[in-house]
Amino acid sequence: MATRKRKFWGWGYEDQGLSADEHRRLAERMSARFGVSGLTITPAPTIDQIELRKPRIAAPPALATFCTADPYERAGHTYGKSYRDIVRGLRREFPNPPDLVAFPTDEEEVIAVLEWCDTERIAAIPYGGGSSVVGGTEPPIAGDYRGVVSIDLARLDRVLEIDRRSRAARIQAGIFGPALEEQLKPHRLTLRHFPQSFEFSSLGGWIATRSGGHYATLYTHIDDFVESTRAVTPAGIVESRRVPGSGAGPSPDRMFIGSEGILGVITEAWMRLQDRPTFRAGASVMFPDFIRGAEAVRAIAQTGLYPANCRLLDPGEAQNSGASRDGSAVLVLAFESADHPLDAWMKRALECCADHGGRIPDPEAAARDATATHEGAAGAWRQAFLAGPYIHDAMVAIGMLNETFETAITWDRFADFHARIMERTTEVARRVCGAAAVTCRLTHAYPDGAAPYYTVIGPARRGSELEQWDEIKTAASDLLIELGGTITHHHAVGRDHRRWYDRQRPDGFAQALRAAKRALDPNAILNPGVLIDP
Ligand SMILES: Cc1cc2nc3c(=O)[nH]c(=O)nc-3n(C[C@H](O)[C@H](O)[C@H](O)COP(=O)(O)OP(=O)(O)OC[C@H]3O[C@@H](n4cnc5c(N)ncnc54)[C@H](O)[C@@H]3O)c2cc1C
Repeated sequence: MATRKRKFWGWGYEDQGLSADEHRRLAERMSARFGVSGLTITPAPTIDQIELRKPRIAAPPALATFCTADPYERAGHTYGKSYRDIVRGLRREFPNPPDLVAFPTDEEEVIAVLEWCDTERIAAIPYGGGSSVVGGTEPPIAGDYRGVVSIDLARLDRVLEIDRRSRAARIQAGIFGPALEEQLKPHRLTLRHFPQSFEFSSLGGWIATRSGGHYATLYTHIDDFVESTRAVTPAGIVESRRVPGSGAGPSPDRMFIGSEGILGVITEAWMRLQDRPTFRAGASVMFPDFIRGAEAVRAIAQTGLYPANCRLLDPGEAQNSGASRDGSAVLVLAFESADHPLDAWMKRALECCADHGGRIPDPEAAARDATATHEGAAGAWRQAFLAGPYIHDAMVAIGMLNETFETAITWDRFADFHARIMERTTEVARRVCGAAAVTCRLTHAYPDGAAPYYTVIGPARRGSELEQWDEIKTAASDLLIELGGTITHHHAVGRDHRRWYDRQRPDGFAQALRAAKRALDPNAILNPGVLIDP
């Protein structure tokens, strides 16, 4: 039976994406919107068009059963899925692929491949779904490594043990989102961690990057779902104790949560689970402008109601996703519970919205349908969210620059911060692209601040896409660091955010991280260049 193959250069399976007709219509829409003519579609590359450097290393016989130098695998493990990655993939440029890809089937094989890399001075890159948008899985260019092995954990894909009473499970790190939920379903349990990349990203990747899921409040990052972790490091196995909470010094889990593959390979974790929700309440609320909407989000975040969804789209985002057409900002609001009806929660949240000029276009429809999150403006936004990665790649193929960046800032600085980021990014993007649109949504909200997520779209010049994006990214990142934001709220640091992360992180902490790296990975073979220099 033929197995379905993932694209080696972009998002999804080879048979997924826009049809030729949809792609052509997208090009026409972009031509009209940005006043450019002659947008042509770059065809998807095929593996026989890719020239790869010969592998510089060969796996010893003991590892050969689960290591491969197959060109499709090497090309597929060269990049993540950012704009820069898709551009290079479509250009058929793969100058620095990993030499081998290892697919260990158990922890023993992870240990064996890591030992070999450690002894032979080979860089080892832990690889989950490869959905990094910050160069997190890309082979290093610098360093005197004899070669690079990408350690793909896709075969560690099982829920191993369920503790129903404590509502937790021991889960292998390579499992992708859909398989994880599928295996928990018979137990009426769920992790409910749904990043937009859910379909093609892994539990280990989520933990290693502190990913942000669909919970817009309270459980925003994967962090609080992690009960304990187990990781293979060149210095041995590090496993933390399963406890519901602990005050015993700095948390060993927290050392691996966000470690981005530089300290060890996370092989499994005990995760806190939820009962599957049976009660839902959803509504979409229109605001005259984004800042009024943000004030409502602040009010809701400070009530302690903790909606599962509380995403505010600025008028541009609302228009692009079809959530509104009249220039309103739209708040997509939803509560969920496995225990109790949510009418009182929703009623109070809507009062907060009304206090800040929020209006529900169709209150009866919202009340009628407890799953209103799948209808109306909320439904339109959800559809656009799911289709987003495919449209992103299609946009790049027609020569559009299409990329996002995200950050977080406290409420006291939010309005000024947002205005200045929008102004600077729009100004640079228009200068660089000739015409451009910058939009924003709040993806996560806290009692003390919010996480704004910016999207930049404009016509790129073929051949100069990377330089164009670098100029926009640098301007936006320099400013957000200068204004006190974080270089990333949930996309991680990888290689692309290093220079801003170096400015953000306290020096003493950098020294401590380097010392931890020396202790666990003394020969600095793990993901060199990410977070700190080897
Ligand atoms: C379309 C799209 C949508 C996205 N949406 C979101 C979103 O909603 N929220 C969000 O947070 N992010 C999002 N991302 C970014 C990305 O999906 C996340 O960073 C995700 O957590 C990466 O998981 P992965 O399994 O693909 O990891 P990979 O990309 O394979 O690796 C990412 C990093 O983690 C390390 N790593 C991976 N597995 C392990 C392991 N087992 N042990 C140690 N280190 C490991 C790698 O070395 C690398 O540094 C999105 C990306 C795309 C392309």
